[in-house]
Amino acid sequence: MSISPDSTFDANENLSSIKSNKGQPLLVMNEQLYKCNKKTARKKYWICIVSGCSMVVHIDENDVYLYRGKWDHHHESNADVIQTTHLRQQMKERVLNELTPIGIIYEEEMAKAPLSTASVALFPTNQEIHQTFVKARRKILPILP
Ligand SMILES: [Zn+2]
Repeated sequence: MSISPDSTFDANENLSSIKSNKGQPLLVMNEQLYKCNKKTARKKYWICIVSGCSMVVHIDENDVYLYRGKWDHHHESNADVIQTTHLRQQMKERVLNELTPIGIIYEEEMAKAPLSTASVALFPTNQEIHQTFVKARRKILPILP
């Protein structure tokens, strides 16, 4: 039996990425969010987005997990933030790829999303998000006569 130096953690940490509202790439691992802190030719260094938390994750240039800090986050997971960011992204994608009215996309995606009551309360309303989506759509669609 071989003992890996990092045996307390699963080597196949569940990595994925999402884009923040500002279009910044964010790393998602175990329901926590990380922003890129430093990049070298062979490694990317990510740091937890919660201020005051210094959890880090290192991945290689092929996005393969290498290392994470040996301590824990002092705060709860960002599952809500991840879900709402993902939801927003999902909506935007449909807004840009479909001709479905924005209000309907909003309603449909909200209905599908497994959001907690708290996240729903924090998520922008249809009215709040509408203008943003109209602008995004206008950028790529020809103006209709
Ligand atoms: Zn953290």
